Amino acid sequence: MAVHGGLLQLATRGDGHVIDITEGVAGVVRSSGAANAVATVFVVGSTAAVTTMEYEPGGVRDLEAVLERLLPREGDYAHNRLNHDTNSHAHLRAALIGPSESIPVVGGRLTLGPWQQVVLLDFDDRPRERTVHVQVLS
Ligand code: ZN
Repeated sequence: MAVHGGLLQLATRGDGHVIDITEGVAGVVRSSGAANAVATVFVVGSTAAVTTMEYEPGGVRDLEAVLERLLPREGDYAHNRLNHDTNSHAHLRAALIGPSESIPVVGGRLTLGPWQQVVLLDFDDRPRERTVHVQVLS
């Protein structure tokens, strides 16, 4: 088995910033030269997540709204109380969505649907520098 790795470095605004990273992931897949493989995409950190969605303003707004209803920014969170922190909602949103996706690669291309993008979500309550690892296993 061969493993080809790439890193995406992104500056985010935090506060639920959603960034389309599909082209960056596809670039690592192209540079691997792999025809049939699995691309794993993983963000480092406990307040960010990776998923797929239809990346368009309405979808992004709806996702923000549902996360605010499920895990509101304000609340009586033990993490904030015990650690004098302010970002418990960010840890919880990140844990719910998860830090990674595995995407099949067939014929050298990610098997994403036409309305399916790979996105990085940064839930922390301040701007962050994020590192996303892309590994292509073939
Ligand atoms: Zn925290």
